[in-house]
Amino acid sequence: QEPATPRITGTPLEILHSVFGYESFRGEQAGIVEHVTSGGNAVVLMPTGGGKSLCYQIPALARPGTGIVVSPLIALMHDQVEALRAVGARAEFLNSTQGADERSRVEAALMAGQVDLLYVAPERLALESTRRMLDGVAKRGGISVIAIDEAHCVAQWGHDFRPDYLTLGDLGERWPGVPRLALTATATEATHKELTTRLRLEDATHFVSSFDRPNIQYRIVPKNDSRAQLLSFIKSEHAGDAGIVYALSRASVEQTAEYLAKQGISALPYHAGLDSRVRAANQRRFLREDGIVMVATIAFGMGIDKPDVRFVAHIDLPKSVEGYYQETGRAGRDGLPSDAWLAYGLNDVVQQRRMIDGSEGDLAHKRRLTANLDAMLALCETVTCRRSQLLAYFGQVGAEACGNCDTCLEKPDTWDGTVPAQKLLSTVVRLQRERNQRFGGGQLIDILRGKETPRTKQHRHEELSTWGIGSDLSEQQWRGVLRQLLAQKLLNVADDGYGTLVLSELSTAVLSGGRKVELRKDAERAASRSRSGGS
Ligand code: ADP
Ligand code: ZN
Repeated sequence: QEPATPRITGTPLEILHSVFGYESFRGEQAGIVEHVTSGGNAVVLMPTGGGKSLCYQIPALARPGTGIVVSPLIALMHDQVEALRAVGARAEFLNSTQGADERSRVEAALMAGQVDLLYVAPERLALESTRRMLDGVAKRGGISVIAIDEAHCVAQWGHDFRPDYLTLGDLGERWPGVPRLALTATATEATHKELTTRLRLEDATHFVSSFDRPNIQYRIVPKNDSRAQLLSFIKSEHAGDAGIVYALSRASVEQTAEYLAKQGISALPYHAGLDSRVRAANQRRFLREDGIVMVATIAFGMGIDKPDVRFVAHIDLPKSVEGYYQETGRAGRDGLPSDAWLAYGLNDVVQQRRMIDGSEGDLAHKRRLTANLDAMLALCETVTCRRSQLLAYFGQVGAEACGNCDTCLEKPDTWDGTVPAQKLLSTVVRLQRERNQRFGGGQLIDILRGKETPRTKQHRHEELSTWGIGSDLSEQQWRGVLRQLLAQKLLNVADDGYGTLVLSELSTAVLSGGRKVELRKDAERAASRSRSGGS
């Protein structure tokens, strides 16, 4: 038996100094800690790296009783408990990884009033047995605060919904008088509202920090050959740096990790299909060694506290701006210059629209997914400051051009794409009317450029009146036109599961000349750009 650690006491500021060793509170921390310590409920929106943990850890220590922290990630729980113990706080966790013996030890400590902070997985807290035990704690030493971390997980609008979170709505009824706070690093206005009502925090004070991450440089480039572009980006700007590369599929994760490794980069794969030991080992290496590049699906990263991640690269289009913000937010938690780099192309748009059409769920669900994708596409195709558009998405409207994103550093040229758009749309119309046919982007481009292939011959496409009328643009340029027409919804992906392209409600206005089409010029040298004018 270890000797019992004495309870930490003191005012919040004393605890900040003596336990955590920090000089002063940062940003909204002081206000949040004061409010919660004196018994108020709070909703905290603070970007990654902003210092959310102290917002509940200090009230939990400053108030009598045990603080309960709901956290969705077991790995994170473990790290936080270790870190708290290292500074002398009595922290424990309850989750599915524990054996019965370990669980009874934690329960005994709880009953003896020897736990300052208890981390618990949401599915544990959903269990009546866990709740009854906490009733016991409430009666004896008391519950000091209830903190719900990653609170956006309760929102169905969000990108990371977890059904277990829905059971957290009644905690205020179960333990009345205990201050509750919900924290998240990602919340649009819709998510913010939804989490407030679902967690019954209508009476809470809201603390909304700026979501700006000034040290992150945002760049979004058109995709030609994503692996080669990625390699050139890493080699020219981040040789030897730690970074995260996000890909959508497990296969792509593995192939990309292998490709980078062959090119001499210390890259490791991470996705839910890997053996759990391999996954844990890769994660450990990423955290402990220098210069590891983790190639991962979005299963990786929530709660990973590695301060010196110098870049986050996406080789596939994220499904929403919230997801993009959260994933890129894992770069540069130490405040030093870092890059968020994304390559996306026509296929990303087609594929994601198809996935939405094919997804389970009702119409409302599909509409949500579509709205999320549209916002992401708008961010990709914007000709104004990416950062101010990102911040506006999170409700911070009117920010000035930042000077530290690709569109600020090099103003994208636009061009009048009305005529090419008309040529393309009328090809779609002809195929539909004259042949009752639909095709994907590749075939349309071949027709426009008058490129003979076995498939164009088979369908006698050279007889179409639009055959070859677009030979003034390269195949690459046409892909850019198509991608942007899809992004602007001037063209649609049919819901036939094949990714064929059809007219949208907006197409007719373009065809009749009633609507101009402004397109951005895709940069030729898309992969790298000098870091001039950085923060
Ligand atoms: P978040 O959960 O919001 O991403 P953390 O709570 O993990 O952020 O804090 C991010 C980093 O900032 C941590 O390394 C933490 O120790 C540090 N930190 C938090 N608050 C302060 C403070 N008041 N003074 C100095 N460092 C702080
Ligand atoms: Zn900018």
